[in-house]
Amino acid sequence: MIPAGGLPPGRVIGIIGGGQLGRMSAMAAARLGYKCHIFSPEIDGPAAQVAAHGTVAAYDDLVALRKFAGEVDVITFEFENLPADALALLASLKPVRPGPEILRISQDRLLEKRFLNDSGVATAPSAPVHDLDELAVAIDRLGLPGILKTTRLGYDGKGQQFVRDAEEAASAYQALSPKPLVLEGLVNFAAEISVIVARGADGTAVAFDPVENRHRDHILDMTLAPAPLPVELLAEAGEIARHVAAKLDLIGLLAVEMFVTAAGGLLVNELAPRPHNSGHWTIDACPASQFDLHIRAVAGLPLPPAVRHADAVMKNLVGPEEMALWPDILGTPGLIPHHYGKAEARPGRKMGHFTRLFPKGGLPGAFGIEDSLRLRAAADPSKNYS
Ligand code: AMP
Repeated sequence: MIPAGGLPPGRVIGIIGGGQLGRMSAMAAARLGYKCHIFSPEIDGPAAQVAAHGTVAAYDDLVALRKFAGEVDVITFEFENLPADALALLASLKPVRPGPEILRISQDRLLEKRFLNDSGVATAPSAPVHDLDELAVAIDRLGLPGILKTTRLGYDGKGQQFVRDAEEAASAYQALSPKPLVLEGLVNFAAEISVIVARGADGTAVAFDPVENRHRDHILDMTLAPAPLPVELLAEAGEIARHVAAKLDLIGLLAVEMFVTAAGGLLVNELAPRPHNSGHWTIDACPASQFDLHIRAVAGLPLPPAVRHADAVMKNLVGPEEMALWPDILGTPGLIPHHYGKAEARPGRKMGHFTRLFPKGGLPGAFGIEDSLRLRAAADPSKNYS
């Protein structure tokens, strides 16, 4: 049990997953006097480097999970694809925040869409695809082009394929795994945004301003905070995120990714019940970051407002090409660097990020963002950062 006033300092928060989200969560936990115990298959990963305790074991190692649960006061996640029996075991032993039902929904695109639609939240049109017959039915219903996605284990554009015609859909069906799949109608979006909401055990919810996310090669490249969109639309996005958090009975943190359609509507694309890459800017631009709110919600502490004292741009550093910029980033006044401590910069791997702050209301216009990052030199001159 977690005491009514929240977990006292000195207690241990168990985190499933050992990457950069766990690292930044553990750093926020340390500021509040907590220790973290990282459960991850990886030795010396980003989170383990900054945490007091660690278990190195597979996510389906029930013996190791049981021992881990015995050594922590509350359990949370930075990696949400834990097998169902592992989740059930943990939940039988210690408070798990967010709860197992939320993870079950967010692990499965079909369950997630059904939950959202049942909660009155619009998503891209979609249809389940368990076999080739169902694929034909889905194509009839939604038309093409579309995107065929695995229902589970997809991330950063993995586990999905853009399909133009029935032939492409059939070969994508064979190629994608694990099955089942889901066919989504192609959304003609004007922007991709996300909202991060924290909700405490007493039902109090706070949400950061919606941000715009720009991707490159299916990986988040930049986040603009706040999203340069009309205030009414931003307010509506915030309302949707709070509504979803309440419907899920969330205790913890939730990122809600949405499309802003060309017609000005909002469609929810994905839910992530954990800290999110599009919230990293909050470390530098907010008195309490997404990681502070995550830890506070999980520990049962009161939630401070999710306010910002600055506008911000966050730029991810992905793979060896962008990590080659590191010395320039360190040498450029105004850029705030974050390194995840990963030993090897493999292509497509998120190695770090940097943030640049602007006075509130001072975010450069759509075409000034990249110039505003003002790197002195760039590994790839075509990126035009200099
Ligand atoms: P996801 O893994 O669902 O977050 O998708 C990765 C990216 O693919 C999104 O950020 C979008 O840029 C794009 N995408 C996904 N689903 C759709 C869709 N139904 N229509 C248009 N673009 C999509």
